[in-house]
Amino acid sequence: MLCYFCCEKERPTYFSHFCDDCNSLRRLMLSYSPSKCTEILKRTCLRDDKQIGFKINQEIKKIVIKEIETKNIEKVGDESHVTPKTRSKSSVKN
Ligand SMILES: [Zn+2]
Repeated sequence: MLCYFCCEKERPTYFSHFCDDCNSLRRLMLSYSPSKCTEILKRTCLRDDKQIGFKINQEIKKIVIKEIETKNIEKVGDESHVTPKTRSKSSVKN
C-alpha cells in the first residue's frame, strides 16, 4: 500500500491516503496555502542555468579553499618554508 502522492513510502494504515512525510507536507500546505508553499519550493529547490552556474562556482571555491587549508596545515610542520614578504599598503604611494 504505497502513498498516493509520492508512490515511494508505505501508508501507515489501509484507510490513509498518504505516508507520514506527505501527510506533514499536506498539513504545511494547508497552514501556509499551496501556492505559497509551491512558490517557496520553486525558489529554493529549482535552479535555472544561471543559478546552476553560481552553484557550481560556489562548490569549486569550497574545494579550492579546502585544498589551500590542507596545504597550509602541511606547511606549518615544515620549518624550512619561508613565507614570501609582500609590500605593506602604507609604503605604496601613488
Ligand atoms: Zn508519500
